[in-house]
Amino acid sequence: MTINHHPPEDLLADFAAGRLDDADRLVIGVHAAQCPRCRRFIAAIEQLAGAALEQANPVSMADNAFATLMARIDEPAASPPATASSRSVQPLDDDLPEILRSCRFGKSRRVAPGVKLQPIILPDTDKSRAFLLWSAPGTRMLEHTHTGTELTLVLKGSFSHEGGEYRPGDFDFGDGDVDHQPIVGSDMPCLCLVAMSGDLKLHGWLGRLISPFVRL
Ligand SMILES: [Zn+2]
Repeated sequence: MTINHHPPEDLLADFAAGRLDDADRLVIGVHAAQCPRCRRFIAAIEQLAGAALEQANPVSMADNAFATLMARIDEPAASPPATASSRSVQPLDDDLPEILRSCRFGKSRRVAPGVKLQPIILPDTDKSRAFLLWSAPGTRMLEHTHTGTELTLVLKGSFSHEGGEYRPGDFDFGDGDVDHQPIVGSDMPCLCLVAMSGDLKLHGWLGRLISPFVRL
């Protein structure tokens, strides 16, 4: 796997320091599990933080970010016990990265023509939410910006926008400054893992017309 697009360094540092909420941490964690370069960066930050802590006072270091992430995902959700129906929801794709295989999934729904969304149920998602996004080959997403942040990791297939082409393992960061219109590769469907805070803002008359119907 050749990875060309990585998370910004401040996000990796926040991941290492345990400052991300569960949805963002999940996306960074799945990317880092596939990306030796980002794992090295996270380990270096953890080492620096550990050295600084040791000098400050002799407290024991917290577990590293990966172990914490895995432990958090393995914890049962704080919500009421799952009913038989919510436990049995299968992910949109049965060949997911290891970290995602232990997640619980909500019911998938169609959000636009050729686009399906499946929520991932995490213990602590007050700020952002995580979901799988499946798009049919050649889907042209509407031009949009964000009121919050959008962290996207390609799991299968590809999409492209003015930032370049994004293939499996590639990470894309979007916020209010980014105005983009991704187009899904024509050869196969695209499956992405997304963490999103805030809302999408769609542009143009078509965007305004359909935005009440496009719920992400
Ligand atoms: Zn990376």
